[in-house]
Amino acid sequence: MLKKGTKAYSILTGTCPKCHEESMYKDKNPYHLGNLFEMHERCSHCNTKYKIEPSFFFGAMYVSYSVGIAFAVAAAVISYFVFNASLMGIFISIVGTLIVFMPLIVRISRNIWINFFIHYDANAAKVKL
Ligand SMILES: [Zn+2]
Repeated sequence: MLKKGTKAYSILTGTCPKCHEESMYKDKNPYHLGNLFEMHERCSHCNTKYKIEPSFFFGAMYVSYSVGIAFAVAAAVISYFVFNASLMGIFISIVGTLIVFMPLIVRISRNIWINFFIHYDANAAKVKL
């Protein structure tokens, strides 16, 4: 599943959606919070511009609702079925999960968002411009 050329690869690794050769982020670790939103202007490999228009990544907020809900559901299911948690316990685990994974959710949402618009191009991966 995690092969270059698949959308999952770009989304999970934060690499350029077009060539999958370079990270879009200046700092690959989302938990360095000061750099969470720091992205390269263009891919140094295929020259794709990441910020397609000025407020392009605002749209990623809509994606982050769905990604956040996915994490919340996972937290609820695990705390209920694995840890047999009470309603309060489930609530706390949801809130805790969303806080702990927030940087990851932000990054994954941006990666999903940009992958809606830019698609993998095998030629871009090969040719170094
Ligand atoms: Zn690229």
